[in-house]
Amino acid sequence: MSEIIYESNIEFAQLLDQKDPLKSYRDSFLFPQRNGKNAIYFCGNSLGLQPKSVSEHVNYELKKWAENGVEGHFDSDPWVGHHKKGKKTMAMLVGAKEHEVVAMNNLTTNLHLMLASFYQPKGIRKKILIEAGAFPSDYFAITSHMEQKNVNPSDDLIEIIPNEAGYFSIDHISEVINEAGHELALVLLPGIQYYSGQFLNIGEIAACAHRVGAYVGFDLAHAAGNVPLTLHHDEVDFAVWCSYKYLNSGPGNVSGAFIHERHSKNTDFPRLAGWWGQDETIRFKMENKFQPMSGIDGWMLSNANIISSAAHLASLALFESADISQLREKSLLLTGYLYFLLTSNDNIQKKINILTPANETERGCQLSLFFHEKGRKIFDALTKEGVIMDWREPNVIRVAPTPMYNTFEEVKIFSDLLEHILIEG
Ligand SMILES: *Cc1c(COP(=O)(O)O)cnc(C)c1O
Repeated sequence: MSEIIYESNIEFAQLLDQKDPLKSYRDSFLFPQRNGKNAIYFCGNSLGLQPKSVSEHVNYELKKWAENGVEGHFDSDPWVGHHKKGKKTMAMLVGAKEHEVVAMNNLTTNLHLMLASFYQPKGIRKKILIEAGAFPSDYFAITSHMEQKNVNPSDDLIEIIPNEAGYFSIDHISEVINEAGHELALVLLPGIQYYSGQFLNIGEIAACAHRVGAYVGFDLAHAAGNVPLTLHHDEVDFAVWCSYKYLNSGPGNVSGAFIHERHSKNTDFPRLAGWWGQDETIRFKMENKFQPMSGIDGWMLSNANIISSAAHLASLALFESADISQLREKSLLLTGYLYFLLTSNDNIQKKINILTPANETERGCQLSLFFHEKGRKIFDALTKEGVIMDWREPNVIRVAPTPMYNTFEEVKIFSDLLEHILIEG
């Protein structure tokens, strides 16, 4: 990363925008209008904006359905192969081989499928480690698997506690993993923690878990499309992510899943099965002997949801051309600039704590701002000014400038608005 000396004047922000090699991507998105102009949309961590190309991709499938009906499954651009179309870009985004990734279901469903495969308590090896304050859906999924297997979460679920700043150090994680040792069956942690925005060291965590013989999985809801990942190289066992946050594919849209090839090529690996996981060369023989596809496709349950997958592909096409390493380079500058403006301004800095690590290699786009007081009032005032962000109890505003469609000027305007609101009280 090149050293940059930030300046707090608007001309400096505009200069960075002029020099931004990714600036044209902004024009590929539809912006909510607030007060007669584009909203300052800093909520790509929750729901990414709609690419303009989505309607064209969706309409293509609607037209095909209208004109061909069931024949669309096997025509020259067949629906039966639709789930293969996004693999190349998905593999690039998470650092995987194409047969290790697939888009299917939703995140929580995929997490259940992964737990069915990777949580096989045996004897005293039955503990699961997650982070305290994990996203409720992940917590529910995990505890429900434990209960189904007659494991009591209050005995065998380890919730690792962050330090008082909300930070998980690798030393502490490694200590807790070693302590659990051969009683540990599975580690499930976030790539980026949704509340604090901390980017965890996936490779080191995977190595720690493997040293004690546990499987390791990651929830990448806040990491996919945000930061470059190297899941194959890091030997992560499995991962899941949603496509509607940084990946801009639309509310509730299809989820991504990864299983490392050392498991996914094993057709005897335990799993919950469905007909779409059946070897495609015999799938339509409709026989009852399950012979799964090799690779993660052997975990598919159902034929793809074509209408929503079309939106996913529209968005992936933008990531394919922008490239995640280029996006990351801009993101470091963009969020770095926000961090600079908030911490170098006395009127702002004394009113907030930034929960997200100061070290840029330990965060993605998002900064989580803890307000000592009046957080909700400040949030409402910013909203009225046309800023879209999100609110987390008790006093946290999460802001995520994204490199695909946000500008340095927006970051500067946001920090000016915040300063103004704080001074007005
Ligand atoms: C957004 C998010 C989810 C959402 O789950 P869905 O199944 O897509 O509704 C789950 N876990 C984490 C950590 C998230 O950030």
